[in-house]
Amino acid sequence: MDEGRAVTVKRISIVVPVYNEEDNIAHFTECVERVMDALPYAYEILFIDDGSCDRSRTILLELGARDPRVQSIFLARNSGHQIALTCGTDHADGDAVITMDGDMQHPPELLPVLLKKWEAGCEIVQTVRISTEGVSAFKRLTSKYYYRLLNAVTDVHIQEGGSDFRLMDRRAVLALRRYHEHARFIRGIVGSMGFRKTTVEFVAPERFAGQSKFSLHKMIAFALDGILAYSVQPLRVAFYVGILSALLAVVLFLHVLFETLRGETVAGWSTIVVCSLFFGGMQMMMLGICGEYIARILQEVKNRPLYLVASDNRRRSGRQGEESV
Ligand code: UDP
Ligand code: MG
Repeated sequence: MDEGRAVTVKRISIVVPVYNEEDNIAHFTECVERVMDALPYAYEILFIDDGSCDRSRTILLELGARDPRVQSIFLARNSGHQIALTCGTDHADGDAVITMDGDMQHPPELLPVLLKKWEAGCEIVQTVRISTEGVSAFKRLTSKYYYRLLNAVTDVHIQEGGSDFRLMDRRAVLALRRYHEHARFIRGIVGSMGFRKTTVEFVAPERFAGQSKFSLHKMIAFALDGILAYSVQPLRVAFYVGILSALLAVVLFLHVLFETLRGETVAGWSTIVVCSLFFGGMQMMMLGICGEYIARILQEVKNRPLYLVASDNRRRSGRQGEESV
Protein backbone atom coordinates (compact mmCIF):
# COMPACT_ATOMS: atom_id res chain seq x y z
CA MET A 1 0.00 0.00 0.00
CA ASP A 2 1.34 3.47 -0.75
CA GLU A 3 1.32 6.22 1.85
CA GLY A 4 -1.44 8.25 0.22
CA ARG A 5 -3.83 5.35 0.60
CA ALA A 6 -2.87 4.62 4.17
CA VAL A 7 -4.30 7.95 5.37
CA THR A 8 -7.40 8.13 3.17
CA VAL A 9 -10.56 6.15 3.88
CA LYS A 10 -10.61 2.96 1.84
CA ARG A 11 -13.31 2.68 -0.76
CA ILE A 12 -15.38 -0.44 -1.26
CA SER A 13 -17.43 -1.19 -4.38
CA ILE A 14 -20.30 -3.61 -3.94
CA VAL A 15 -21.26 -4.97 -7.35
CA VAL A 16 -24.78 -6.38 -7.66
CA PRO A 17 -26.18 -7.84 -10.91
CA VAL A 18 -29.95 -7.63 -10.98
CA TYR A 19 -32.52 -8.96 -13.41
CA ASN A 20 -36.17 -8.28 -12.63
CA GLU A 21 -35.64 -7.83 -8.89
CA GLU A 22 -38.22 -5.06 -8.28
CA ASP A 23 -39.24 -6.50 -4.89
CA ASN A 24 -35.69 -7.04 -3.68
CA ILE A 25 -33.64 -3.97 -4.62
CA ALA A 26 -34.88 -1.50 -1.98
CA HIS A 27 -34.75 -4.04 0.85
CA PHE A 28 -31.30 -5.24 -0.24
CA THR A 29 -29.95 -1.66 -0.42
CA GLU A 30 -31.32 -0.88 3.04
CA CYS A 31 -29.71 -3.99 4.57
CA VAL A 32 -26.34 -3.41 2.90
CA GLU A 33 -26.33 0.25 3.95
CA ARG A 34 -27.14 -0.68 7.54
CA VAL A 35 -24.15 -3.02 7.65
CA MET A 36 -21.74 -0.78 5.74
CA ASP A 37 -22.63 2.42 7.63
CA ALA A 38 -21.27 0.82 10.81
CA LEU A 39 -17.88 0.23 9.15
CA PRO A 40 -15.09 2.78 8.59
CA TYR A 41 -15.22 2.71 4.78
CA ALA A 42 -16.48 4.85 1.95
CA TYR A 43 -18.57 2.65 -0.33
CA GLU A 44 -20.74 2.47 -3.40
CA ILE A 45 -23.38 -0.08 -4.33
CA LEU A 46 -23.03 -0.55 -8.06
CA PHE A 47 -26.10 -2.24 -9.50
CA ILE A 48 -25.81 -3.72 -12.97
CA ASP A 49 -29.30 -3.95 -14.37
CA ASP A 50 -29.18 -6.90 -16.74
CA GLY A 51 -31.95 -5.76 -19.09
CA SER A 52 -34.79 -5.96 -16.55
CA CYS A 53 -38.30 -5.53 -17.88
CA ASP A 54 -40.07 -4.95 -14.55
CA ARG A 55 -39.82 -1.84 -12.34
CA SER A 56 -36.18 -2.48 -11.36
CA ARG A 57 -34.90 0.36 -13.53
CA THR A 58 -37.25 2.97 -12.07
CA ILE A 59 -36.47 1.81 -8.54
CA LEU A 60 -32.72 2.02 -9.16
CA LEU A 61 -33.02 5.53 -10.58
CA GLU A 62 -35.15 6.65 -7.60
CA LEU A 63 -32.71 5.15 -5.10
CA GLY A 64 -29.77 6.73 -6.92
CA ALA A 65 -31.44 10.17 -6.91
CA ARG A 66 -31.89 9.96 -3.13
CA ASP A 67 -28.58 8.38 -2.24
CA PRO A 68 -25.35 9.11 -4.11
CA ARG A 69 -23.85 5.84 -2.94
CA VAL A 70 -26.32 3.90 -5.07
CA GLN A 71 -25.01 3.77 -8.62
CA SER A 72 -26.35 1.87 -11.58
CA ILE A 73 -25.41 0.80 -15.05
CA PHE A 74 -28.10 -0.47 -17.40
CA LEU A 75 -27.22 -3.12 -19.94
CA ALA A 76 -28.86 -2.93 -23.34
CA ARG A 77 -30.32 -6.43 -23.01
CA ASN A 78 -30.37 -9.45 -20.74
CA SER A 79 -26.85 -10.84 -21.08
CA GLY A 80 -26.75 -13.25 -18.14
CA HIS A 81 -25.48 -13.15 -14.58
CA GLN A 82 -21.79 -13.76 -15.41
CA ILE A 83 -21.66 -11.01 -18.03
CA ALA A 84 -23.48 -8.57 -15.74
CA LEU A 85 -20.92 -9.37 -13.04
CA THR A 86 -18.13 -8.72 -15.55
CA CYS A 87 -19.59 -5.33 -16.42
CA GLY A 88 -19.63 -4.57 -12.68
CA THR A 89 -16.02 -5.55 -12.03
CA ASP A 90 -14.95 -3.65 -15.17
CA HIS A 91 -16.51 -0.44 -13.86
CA ALA A 92 -16.04 -0.69 -10.09
CA ASP A 93 -13.17 1.42 -8.83
CA GLY A 94 -13.02 0.53 -5.13
CA ASP A 95 -9.86 -0.56 -3.31
CA ALA A 96 -11.79 -3.78 -2.83
CA VAL A 97 -14.70 -5.01 -4.93
CA ILE A 98 -17.36 -7.30 -3.48
CA THR A 99 -19.71 -9.10 -5.84
CA MET A 100 -23.03 -10.40 -4.51
CA ASP A 101 -26.57 -11.27 -5.61
CA GLY A 102 -29.39 -8.81 -5.06
CA ASP A 103 -31.94 -11.27 -3.69
CA MET A 104 -30.58 -11.54 -0.12
CA GLN A 105 -29.24 -15.05 -0.73
CA HIS A 106 -25.78 -13.63 -0.10
CA PRO A 107 -26.22 -12.27 3.44
CA PRO A 108 -25.03 -8.66 3.89
CA GLU A 109 -24.11 -9.54 7.52
CA LEU A 110 -21.13 -11.36 6.06
CA LEU A 111 -19.62 -8.16 4.60
CA PRO A 112 -17.65 -7.26 7.78
CA VAL A 113 -16.20 -10.79 7.85
CA LEU A 114 -15.00 -10.50 4.24
CA LEU A 115 -13.54 -7.06 4.87
CA LYS A 116 -11.71 -8.24 7.97
CA LYS A 117 -10.03 -11.02 5.99
CA TRP A 118 -9.09 -8.47 3.33
CA GLU A 119 -7.56 -6.19 5.96
CA ALA A 120 -5.61 -9.19 7.22
CA GLY A 121 -3.94 -9.41 3.81
CA CYS A 122 -6.11 -11.73 1.69
CA GLU A 123 -6.52 -10.56 -1.88
CA ILE A 124 -9.44 -12.87 -2.70
CA VAL A 125 -12.01 -13.82 -0.09
CA GLN A 126 -14.23 -16.51 -1.60
CA THR A 127 -17.43 -17.54 0.11
CA VAL A 128 -18.59 -21.14 0.13
CA ARG A 129 -22.26 -22.05 0.44
CA ILE A 130 -22.49 -24.97 2.84
CA SER A 131 -26.23 -25.23 2.26
CA THR A 132 -29.11 -23.31 0.77
CA GLU A 133 -32.39 -23.00 2.60
CA GLY A 134 -35.49 -24.02 0.68
CA VAL A 135 -33.62 -25.34 -2.34
CA SER A 136 -35.03 -28.37 -4.16
CA ALA A 137 -33.37 -31.76 -3.65
CA PHE A 138 -32.82 -31.84 -7.43
CA LYS A 139 -30.80 -28.61 -7.46
CA ARG A 140 -28.82 -29.66 -4.37
CA LEU A 141 -27.89 -33.05 -5.82
CA THR A 142 -27.10 -31.82 -9.34
CA SER A 143 -24.95 -29.04 -7.89
CA LYS A 144 -23.04 -31.45 -5.63
CA TYR A 145 -22.27 -33.96 -8.38
CA TYR A 146 -21.56 -31.22 -10.88
CA TYR A 147 -18.73 -29.86 -8.72
CA ARG A 148 -17.35 -33.39 -8.27
CA LEU A 149 -17.36 -33.90 -12.05
CA LEU A 150 -15.86 -30.46 -12.64
CA ASN A 151 -13.00 -31.13 -10.26
CA ALA A 152 -12.41 -34.56 -11.75
CA VAL A 153 -12.09 -33.32 -15.33
CA THR A 154 -10.47 -29.90 -14.92
CA ASP A 155 -7.07 -28.82 -13.63
CA VAL A 156 -8.41 -25.92 -11.60
CA HIS A 157 -9.87 -26.78 -8.23
CA ILE A 158 -13.32 -25.25 -7.95
CA GLN A 159 -14.75 -25.46 -4.48
CA GLU A 160 -18.04 -27.33 -4.09
CA GLY A 161 -20.65 -24.74 -3.17
CA GLY A 162 -18.40 -21.93 -4.40
CA SER A 163 -20.52 -18.88 -5.15
CA ASP A 164 -20.07 -15.56 -6.89
CA PHE A 165 -20.22 -13.83 -3.51
CA ARG A 166 -16.60 -12.79 -3.06
CA LEU A 167 -14.29 -9.95 -2.20
CA MET A 168 -11.43 -9.09 -4.50
CA ASP A 169 -8.63 -6.69 -3.86
CA ARG A 170 -8.15 -4.08 -6.59
CA ARG A 171 -5.09 -5.95 -7.85
CA ALA A 172 -7.13 -9.14 -8.34
CA VAL A 173 -9.88 -7.12 -10.05
CA LEU A 174 -7.36 -5.65 -12.49
CA ALA A 175 -6.14 -9.18 -13.20
CA LEU A 176 -9.71 -10.42 -13.77
CA ARG A 177 -10.28 -7.62 -16.31
CA ARG A 178 -7.59 -9.11 -18.50
CA TYR A 179 -9.69 -12.22 -19.13
CA HIS A 180 -11.85 -11.59 -22.17
CA GLU A 181 -13.40 -14.99 -22.82
CA HIS A 182 -17.08 -14.99 -23.74
CA ALA A 183 -18.16 -18.32 -22.27
CA ARG A 184 -17.41 -17.09 -18.78
CA PHE A 185 -17.30 -19.14 -15.64
CA ILE A 186 -15.96 -16.51 -13.26
CA ARG A 187 -15.55 -19.00 -10.40
CA GLY A 188 -13.12 -20.95 -12.57
CA ILE A 189 -11.25 -17.85 -13.75
CA VAL A 190 -10.82 -16.48 -10.22
CA GLY A 191 -9.90 -19.94 -8.96
CA SER A 192 -7.11 -20.19 -11.53
CA MET A 193 -5.75 -16.66 -10.98
CA GLY A 194 -3.68 -17.29 -7.87
CA PHE A 195 -3.29 -14.44 -5.33
CA ARG A 196 -3.56 -14.84 -1.57
CA LYS A 197 -6.90 -16.52 -0.97
CA THR A 198 -9.15 -17.57 1.83
CA THR A 199 -12.68 -18.89 2.12
CA VAL A 200 -15.63 -18.03 4.33
CA GLU A 201 -18.52 -20.46 4.75
CA PHE A 202 -22.15 -19.41 4.88
CA VAL A 203 -25.67 -20.76 4.74
CA ALA A 204 -27.64 -19.14 1.92
CA PRO A 205 -31.13 -18.17 3.05
CA GLU A 206 -34.13 -18.34 0.72
CA ARG A 207 -34.69 -15.53 -1.74
CA PHE A 208 -36.29 -12.48 -0.10
CA ALA A 209 -38.81 -12.14 -2.96
CA GLY A 210 -39.39 -13.32 -6.51
CA GLN A 211 -38.28 -16.42 -8.39
CA SER A 212 -34.85 -17.76 -9.29
CA LYS A 213 -33.82 -16.47 -12.72
CA PHE A 214 -31.96 -19.66 -13.51
CA SER A 215 -34.11 -21.98 -15.57
CA LEU A 216 -33.00 -25.59 -16.10
CA HIS A 217 -31.86 -24.56 -19.58
CA LYS A 218 -29.67 -21.72 -18.20
CA MET A 219 -28.27 -24.04 -15.53
CA ILE A 220 -27.23 -26.63 -18.12
CA ALA A 221 -25.63 -23.96 -20.35
CA PHE A 222 -23.72 -22.56 -17.34
CA ALA A 223 -22.62 -26.05 -16.27
CA LEU A 224 -21.35 -26.82 -19.80
CA ASP A 225 -19.43 -23.53 -19.91
CA GLY A 226 -17.72 -24.49 -16.67
CA ILE A 227 -16.53 -27.82 -17.99
CA LEU A 228 -15.75 -26.94 -21.60
CA ALA A 229 -13.90 -23.74 -20.69
CA TYR A 230 -11.53 -25.55 -18.37
CA SER A 231 -11.13 -29.02 -19.76
CA VAL A 232 -10.35 -30.85 -22.97
CA GLN A 233 -11.20 -34.14 -21.26
CA PRO A 234 -14.56 -34.50 -23.08
CA LEU A 235 -12.63 -34.56 -26.37
CA ARG A 236 -10.50 -37.32 -24.87
CA VAL A 237 -13.66 -39.14 -23.80
CA ALA A 238 -14.72 -39.08 -27.45
CA PHE A 239 -11.37 -40.61 -28.36
CA TYR A 240 -11.70 -43.44 -25.82
CA VAL A 241 -15.31 -44.08 -26.76
CA GLY A 242 -14.12 -44.28 -30.38
CA ILE A 243 -11.51 -46.92 -29.45
CA LEU A 244 -14.08 -48.84 -27.41
CA SER A 245 -16.58 -48.87 -30.24
CA ALA A 246 -13.85 -49.99 -32.67
CA LEU A 247 -13.05 -52.93 -30.33
CA LEU A 248 -16.73 -53.76 -30.14
CA ALA A 249 -16.86 -53.68 -33.92
CA VAL A 250 -14.07 -56.29 -34.01
CA VAL A 251 -16.06 -58.53 -31.64
CA LEU A 252 -19.17 -58.05 -33.75
CA PHE A 253 -17.17 -58.84 -36.87
CA LEU A 254 -16.00 -62.12 -35.28
CA HIS A 255 -19.61 -62.90 -34.44
CA VAL A 256 -20.68 -62.24 -38.03
CA LEU A 257 -17.82 -64.41 -39.31
CA PHE A 258 -18.80 -67.20 -36.93
CA GLU A 259 -22.44 -67.06 -38.02
CA THR A 260 -21.41 -67.02 -41.71
CA LEU A 261 -19.27 -70.14 -41.23
CA ARG A 262 -22.23 -71.82 -39.56
CA GLY A 263 -24.25 -70.90 -42.61
CA GLU A 264 -26.80 -68.84 -40.72
CA THR A 265 -26.27 -65.54 -42.47
CA VAL A 266 -29.97 -64.83 -42.96
CA ALA A 267 -30.14 -63.74 -39.38
CA GLY A 268 -27.54 -61.05 -40.19
CA TRP A 269 -30.10 -58.26 -40.31
CA SER A 270 -30.00 -57.95 -36.51
CA THR A 271 -26.23 -57.50 -36.57
CA ILE A 272 -26.59 -54.76 -39.16
CA VAL A 273 -29.23 -53.00 -37.13
CA VAL A 274 -27.19 -53.27 -33.93
CA CYS A 275 -24.06 -52.03 -35.69
CA SER A 276 -25.69 -49.08 -37.38
CA LEU A 277 -27.44 -48.06 -34.20
CA PHE A 278 -24.32 -48.39 -32.08
CA PHE A 279 -21.90 -46.68 -34.42
CA GLY A 280 -24.44 -44.09 -35.46
CA GLY A 281 -24.88 -43.23 -31.79
CA MET A 282 -21.16 -43.06 -31.15
CA GLN A 283 -20.59 -40.80 -34.13
CA MET A 284 -23.40 -38.48 -33.12
CA MET A 285 -21.98 -38.28 -29.61
CA MET A 286 -18.50 -37.44 -30.83
CA LEU A 287 -19.83 -34.91 -33.33
CA GLY A 288 -21.79 -33.37 -30.48
CA ILE A 289 -18.71 -32.98 -28.31
CA CYS A 290 -16.67 -31.52 -31.16
CA GLY A 291 -19.59 -29.25 -32.01
CA GLU A 292 -19.65 -27.82 -28.49
CA TYR A 293 -15.99 -26.85 -28.77
CA ILE A 294 -16.37 -25.50 -32.29
CA ALA A 295 -19.32 -23.36 -31.18
CA ARG A 296 -17.13 -21.88 -28.45
CA ILE A 297 -14.23 -21.27 -30.83
CA LEU A 298 -16.62 -19.46 -33.16
CA GLN A 299 -17.88 -17.34 -30.29
CA GLU A 300 -14.37 -16.37 -29.20
CA VAL A 301 -13.12 -15.77 -32.75
CA LYS A 302 -15.98 -13.35 -33.45
CA ASN A 303 -14.72 -11.41 -30.44
CA ARG A 304 -17.94 -9.51 -30.05
CA PRO A 305 -18.26 -7.08 -27.14
CA LEU A 306 -19.14 -8.92 -23.94
CA TYR A 307 -21.92 -6.48 -23.14
CA LEU A 308 -23.44 -3.22 -24.33
CA VAL A 309 -24.18 -0.48 -21.85
CA ALA A 310 -27.44 1.34 -22.60
CA SER A 311 -26.87 4.01 -19.97
CA ASP A 312 -24.37 4.67 -17.23
CA ASN A 313 -25.91 6.41 -14.27
CA ARG A 314 -22.85 6.52 -12.07
CA ARG A 315 -22.34 10.00 -10.68
CA ARG A 316 -18.58 10.16 -10.94
CA SER A 317 -18.55 9.06 -14.56
CA GLY A 318 -19.63 12.54 -15.72
CA ARG A 319 -21.59 10.84 -18.50
CA GLN A 320 -24.88 10.50 -16.74
CA GLY A 321 -27.53 8.88 -18.87
CA GLU A 322 -25.34 9.17 -21.92
CA GLU A 323 -25.14 6.48 -24.60
CA SER A 324 -21.93 4.52 -24.39
CA VAL A 325 -20.56 1.11 -25.18
N1 UDP B 1 -29.30 -12.29 -12.60
C1 UDP B 1 -28.83 -11.48 -13.63
N2 UDP B 1 -29.06 -11.87 -14.93
C2 UDP B 1 -29.68 -13.06 -15.25
C3 UDP B 1 -30.10 -13.90 -14.19
C4 UDP B 1 -29.88 -13.50 -12.89
O1 UDP B 1 -28.28 -10.41 -13.38
O2 UDP B 1 -29.84 -13.34 -16.44
C5 UDP B 1 -29.09 -11.86 -11.21
C6 UDP B 1 -30.31 -11.99 -10.30
O3 UDP B 1 -31.11 -10.82 -10.36
C7 UDP B 1 -29.68 -12.19 -8.93
C8 UDP B 1 -28.42 -12.97 -9.25
O4 UDP B 1 -28.13 -12.74 -10.64
O5 UDP B 1 -29.32 -10.96 -8.31
C9 UDP B 1 -28.58 -14.47 -9.00
O6 UDP B 1 -29.70 -14.96 -9.71
P1 UDP B 1 -30.75 -15.96 -9.07
O7 UDP B 1 -31.06 -15.55 -7.66
O8 UDP B 1 -31.89 -16.05 -10.01
O9 UDP B 1 -29.91 -17.32 -9.08
P2 UDP B 1 -29.95 -18.50 -7.99
O10 UDP B 1 -29.68 -17.85 -6.65
O11 UDP B 1 -31.31 -19.09 -8.07
O12 UDP B 1 -28.85 -19.42 -8.43
MG1 MG C 1 -30.65 -16.28 -5.83
